[in-house]
Amino acid sequence: MGKRKRILITGGAGFIGSHLCEKLLEQGNEVICLDNLFTGQKENIRPLMNNPDFEFVRHDVLEPIYVECDQVYNLACPASPPHYQFDPVKTAKTSFLGAVHTLETAKSCHARILQASTSEVYGDPEVHPQPESYWGCVNPHGIRSCYDEGKRVAETLFFDYHRQYGVDIKVVRIFNTYGPNMSPDDGRVVSNFIMQALKNEDITIYGDGNQTRSFCYVDDLVEGLIRMMNSREDFTGPVNLGNPGEFTMLELAELVLKLTGSKSKLIHKPLPEDDPTQRRPVIDLAKRELSWEPKIPLEEGLKRTIAYFERL
Ligand code: NAD
Ligand code: UDP
Repeated sequence: MGKRKRILITGGAGFIGSHLCEKLLEQGNEVICLDNLFTGQKENIRPLMNNPDFEFVRHDVLEPIYVECDQVYNLACPASPPHYQFDPVKTAKTSFLGAVHTLETAKSCHARILQASTSEVYGDPEVHPQPESYWGCVNPHGIRSCYDEGKRVAETLFFDYHRQYGVDIKVVRIFNTYGPNMSPDDGRVVSNFIMQALKNEDITIYGDGNQTRSFCYVDDLVEGLIRMMNSREDFTGPVNLGNPGEFTMLELAELVLKLTGSKSKLIHKPLPEDDPTQRRPVIDLAKRELSWEPKIPLEEGLKRTIAYFERL
C-alpha cells in the first residue's frame, strides 16, 4: 500500500484498534499505538510488542498529543453501551477533546487523519436503511447521548478543521462490528451471547428481541478503514462501513445457539432506554469510492469469534 508510513492509532489496544495495528504492521508500516487501557487490553497487542516497528504509549486523549506521523486513526473511545455509560462525562470529553487533540497533531505535522465515527450518529433512525445523507434522529440528553452526541460533535470538528485549516480528513461511520479480541465482559450483544452460550447460561434478550442490527466481521471493517485512509484526497466521507445483512436479536441468539450447540435458554430483560429499533447501512458510496464491500457472512464470522472465545 505505497511507501512505508509512521501511523498513530489512538485506541490501538482495543478490539478494532488491535486488528488495525496488526494489519498496518504486516503492510510494512511503523505503528504507534496510543491507549489509556480503559477498555483496551495489553493482551490484544502482546503479540506485537516484540516487533521493532511497533510502539505502545499509555496516554489519555484528554491530554494533548505530541507525535510526528504521516497518518492518524482516531479510534479512542469506549464503544460498548455499559462502558461508555460508566462515566458519561468522560465519554463525551473523550470524543470532543480526543478529536481536538488528534486534529491538532495532524495539523501540526500535515498528517492525514481518519475519524472512527459510528452508525449511532443516526440515533433511532426514521429512515431505513441509513444512507450517509440522513442527518439522524438522536436524543440529545438521554443515556446514549454522551456517545452519540460526542461522535456527532467530533464529526463537526473534523469538517471544521478541514474547512478552516485545510486538514486532510477522512470520516467513516462504523456499523456494529464483532470478532476476536472483543473483551468477554465487553457487554455488547455478540460477546454476551457467545459467552452465555459457551457457559450454558441464560441468553439475555433485551426487550422482545425484534430490534435489528447489521453485523460486520472485523477483518472486513479493517480493510475498509485502510482503503478509506488511502482514498483520493478530495474524498472526505462521511462513508458508511458495515455489512448490510440485517438480523433481529432473536435470530442472532438462535444462530449462536446452533453454532455452539449450547443448552442455554433465552430469557428477556428490559430494553435499555433509547435502544435503536433498526439499523442497516446503505454502502453504495463505499462500493463506488473504495471498491469495498464485506465478504464474510455472519455465520462464518461467528464461527471464528466463537473459536476465539473458546480458546480464552
Ligand atoms: P474498544 O472499547 O474495544 O476500543 C476503544 C479503545 O479506546 C480501547 O482500547 C480504550 O482503552 C481506548 N480509549 C478509550 N478512552 C480513551 C481515552 N480517553 N484515551 C485513550 N484511549 C482511550 O471499542 P472498539 O469496538 O474497538 O471501537 C473502536 C472505535 O470504533 C471507537 O471509537 C468506537 O466508537 C468506534 N466504533 C466501533 C463500533 C463497533 O461496533 N465495534 C461501531 C461504531 C464505531
Ligand atoms: N442486546 C441484547 N442482549 C445483550 C446485549 C445487547 O439483547 O446481552 C441488544 C441491545 O439491546 C441492542 C442490540 O442487542 O438492541 C445491540 O446491542 P449492542 O450493545 O451490541 O450495540 P448497540 O446497541 O450499540 O448497537
